[in-house]
Amino acid sequence: MATITEQHRLDDEAATLALGAELAHRLTPGACVYLRGDLGAGKTTLVRGLLQALGHRGAVKSPTYTLVEPYETGGVPIYHFDLYRLGDPEELEMIGIRDYFDGRALCLLEWPERGRGMIPEPDLTVTLAVEGRGRHAKLEWADGQH
Ligand code: ADP
Ligand code: MG
Repeated sequence: MATITEQHRLDDEAATLALGAELAHRLTPGACVYLRGDLGAGKTTLVRGLLQALGHRGAVKSPTYTLVEPYETGGVPIYHFDLYRLGDPEELEMIGIRDYFDGRALCLLEWPERGRGMIPEPDLTVTLAVEGRGRHAKLEWADGQH
């Protein structure tokens, strides 16, 4: 499948939040976003920027123990997953994973590789990496999503 790739240099936390805000306006409801990168790479920060741009005012914490945190802004459901602690992708069956990907909700997944076989293909993959004092982000848009 054809993909469009973008590179972004993120000098500080504010730049990561700004990229999240930009994505809030570029993503359509129903999109599935994979957030890749090591612990501390900035995945949750990006989600925070995205949610705040959509009007969310409360805290945004990584749902490391609960696997998923639901939000709703402007009538659009948003599900933030963190699969870091998932032992086996089959465990996702128990939280009714399929119901979250209903084509209406925006789904953001940290550690998507741990849910392999149980989650849809991404419309966008963001790969974050530490680069000097800042971060580097690579965006890969699946065909038709950019
Ligand atoms: P992850 O969810 O990938 O584990 P977090 O979003 O929790 O990572 O971020 C880890 C730390 O990185 C936070 O302290 C955050 O402020 C910081 N951070 C995020 N983006 C940047 C950036 N572009 N430059 C420097 N620090 C950043
Ligand atoms: Mg995180």
